[in-house]
Amino acid sequence: RTIGAFFDETVAARGDGLALVSRHQGIRLSYAELGEKVDRLACGLARLGLKKGDRVGIWAPNRAEWAITQFATAKAGLVLVNINPAYRLTEIEFALNKVGCRALVTAERFKSSDYVAMLRELAPELDEGAVPLAAARLPALEFPIVLSEDAAPGFIRFDDLLAEPSGNERAALAALGETLDRNDPINIQFTSGTTGTPKGATLTHRNILNNGFFVAEAIGLKPGDRLSIPVPLYHCFGMVMGNLGCLTHGAAMVYPSDAFEPGAVLSAVEAEGCVGLYGVPTMFIAVLDHPDRRSFDLSSLRTGIMAGSPCPIEVMKKVVGELGMDDVTIAYGMTETSPVSFQISMDDPIERRVSTVGRVQPHCEVKIVDFEGRTVARGETGELCTRGYSVMKGYWDDPARTAEVLDAEGFMHTGDLATIDAEGYGNIVGRSKDMVIRGGENVYPREVEEFLYAHPKIRDVQVVGVPDPKYGEELCACVVAADPSLTAEEVVGFCRGKIAHYKIPRHVVLVEAFPMTVTGKIQKFVLRSEMAELLG
Ligand code: ATP
Ligand code: MG
Repeated sequence: RTIGAFFDETVAARGDGLALVSRHQGIRLSYAELGEKVDRLACGLARLGLKKGDRVGIWAPNRAEWAITQFATAKAGLVLVNINPAYRLTEIEFALNKVGCRALVTAERFKSSDYVAMLRELAPELDEGAVPLAAARLPALEFPIVLSEDAAPGFIRFDDLLAEPSGNERAALAALGETLDRNDPINIQFTSGTTGTPKGATLTHRNILNNGFFVAEAIGLKPGDRLSIPVPLYHCFGMVMGNLGCLTHGAAMVYPSDAFEPGAVLSAVEAEGCVGLYGVPTMFIAVLDHPDRRSFDLSSLRTGIMAGSPCPIEVMKKVVGELGMDDVTIAYGMTETSPVSFQISMDDPIERRVSTVGRVQPHCEVKIVDFEGRTVARGETGELCTRGYSVMKGYWDDPARTAEVLDAEGFMHTGDLATIDAEGYGNIVGRSKDMVIRGGENVYPREVEEFLYAHPKIRDVQVVGVPDPKYGEELCACVVAADPSLTAEEVVGFCRGKIAHYKIPRHVVLVEAFPMTVTGKIQKFVLRSEMAELLG
């Protein structure tokens, strides 16, 4: 089935049941009401002249219109392009042009970002007010659509696209639905850009609808349940695991705020009686540490997902013990695999839920291979490869980079190093690009970093490999000091006798901060080239 077909079935089955709550906007929609808005927007987009396969970008924080656009584009056969609300001028120009967005749904502003002003700077032609837009720097963009009450010159108001469609328009939408195929592309999501420039992963109905379904199955979501979604919708965690997880289970999506705010999460859970809560580990830490947490009634909470980065056991214990999320699960994934490929079961003991990322998703296969591509023995470390319904079609307009990761047998080479134990539980060791080979020994930076974190004068540390004439590569520890008196000798001395000699960093460089992606991940490849230059 397509997302549109599934959507219509859920609307018919759930009717007046709650579909969506956007707390900061004061919006509550039943499935019937959501269905009507989605149909109106799908017709409105078709009225502009948008056709099956055309790309429609969305550049906005969490709000009801995000979900309405997501489902409307799916019904209209358009390809939704998720754009990070943290993107600025250069990134938005790159993204819109890379995939050739004909339309863009944008918030007017968000926090310190004035989206409309940024677009005006890129496309001064907007001031002429002509529709379709013809802008030199954004050649593909014809229809800028704004989520605001007032019409900004050159923009189409989102609300104007929600006008009552004619009978013919509705009939055309229904007829179009019959022509869509579950293997059509429906979504382009950019990877975080942790290891290079972001890649636009092209995903189909089948990819993300199934992933949303299985992820929500694993947390036991039921019709009528309410799920608190404080994670960003532009990311697969929000739009697939959150929105599609709810849609496939007839549950309600609850957005506590436009961007994560722990107090808003607590009041949303209490007021809406949410059974589930999603978050990355730092979000759960912030919720647990909120000074007024104990004054909220969180008794409805039972389940959820913690994902995105490794989860500390102490946090997991508190999520279960203090938030009452007995059935909380952990997941591993990547944009290219829709995203989840490993998930812990609700029945696994807590120790397992933090020491592994769980078992492989239903209907997916995994293998661990060495550098020659041979499958390694159980328990050994190698590159994780996945195959199944969840693997993307490819990177948009980038056959060369697609060929680097998708092989002839349909396996996605994740670039992550992992092990799988005798019972099928996976463990993520680190990224293969980050691995350092020093004099023939493989060193996993994360292991050395975790050791160095224990030093009281070290606030943060990243370990990278730098070229070395004798050993091929040498380890370089880039340290953010918690105490200005910290010296390189102290760091090396701390390691001596406690970790193998070849894991002791040869170079220690004190830095102020690390290069980061807009999503807050550390870009080791930038750090590595900076260090190679500094030390070379
Ligand atoms: P890019 O591909 O552009 O360099 P990225 O790989 O960081 O960026 P994402 O697709 O957002 O972009 O992130 C997927 C990666 O995040 C995985 O390949 C893995 O390295 C890491 N990851 C995800 N979940 C976990 C987890 N549970 N434990 C450890 N690492 C994880
Ligand atoms: Mg990646």
